[in-house]
Amino acid sequence: LSGWACALICTALAAGEVAAADDAAVGATRVVMLGSGTPMPDPARRGPGVAVIAKGRAYVVDAGEGIFRATAASTPDYGGRFPELHRTRLTRLFLTHLHSDHTVGVPAFILLPWTLGRTEAPQIYGPPGTARLVRGILDAYLDDIDQRRYGLGQGNDTGWRAVAHEVAAPGVVYTDDAVTVKAFPTEHTTYPVTWAYRFETPDRVVVISGDTRPCQGILDAGAGADVLVHEVIGVDDRDKAPWGKAKHMRLDLGDVSRFYHTTTEELAGIAKQVKPRLLVLYHEQNWSDPYEPDALVEEIRRFGYDGQVVSARDGDVY
Ligand SMILES: [Zn+2]
Ligand SMILES: [Zn+2]
Repeated sequence: LSGWACALICTALAAGEVAAADDAAVGATRVVMLGSGTPMPDPARRGPGVAVIAKGRAYVVDAGEGIFRATAASTPDYGGRFPELHRTRLTRLFLTHLHSDHTVGVPAFILLPWTLGRTEAPQIYGPPGTARLVRGILDAYLDDIDQRRYGLGQGNDTGWRAVAHEVAAPGVVYTDDAVTVKAFPTEHTTYPVTWAYRFETPDRVVVISGDTRPCQGILDAGAGADVLVHEVIGVDDRDKAPWGKAKHMRLDLGDVSRFYHTTTEELAGIAKQVKPRLLVLYHEQNWSDPYEPDALVEEIRRFGYDGQVVSARDGDVY
């Protein structure tokens, strides 16, 4: 087995645990599932967040609820194997869109590492509206920031100064000596601009869908990916979904897939076209009853996709 295949299989066998890859060489690109969840407060799944580790650096995509603690959980301090995710090294965040389930962790990403010693200012990339979000967070926490800067003088004066970079057009949005990050347009609700991100490193291509309905952008983003991390809705137990019942959100599956998200049937079709080496399901709307953790993997297979596919668990490594 190549190291990559071993990492994949180890991950599949030890769901929910950090995989014991045999080639954790410095520089090998890895994907760490920080949070595999949705707005549903499933205690086993943090809000959405994925880290790409390359060449000694960490790049985080989305900051759902609990993401800061998830980064810590994958560091050696807490039994993980990625020093790149240490709090003082969290400086690059990419937002797919500004829904709260993907952004409530942004204040934590900006402020808590700073209070614990990070000196480098975080750089936050995202669609139009990101600058207002960052500005608003810094304004909302001004008392805290002032206390820490001037109160007892323990806070440095650089690590809190988050810089927003609004991504208004597709293409290369970020590059350094470890990675090139490209944004591809997705389609989600009535947002005019939402992004999937494609990370290209010397050894791998990793694509993270964010939230999207099926669209050309995800086909373009996913082409040739080693790892495609994609959102998905199950269809077998669709009647159990809250959006089918709630008075404020009376939608059926057709509405949801037309406007918001991607069904297992649709994702199987996407995967057949883009042929990722590994498809990772996250932000799963798995309403199976009784609950079956791999229900959506089974649906994807049933819809005719026979490539490698796994259901993400928080802390998994690919
Ligand atoms: Zn969303
Ligand atoms: Zn979402």
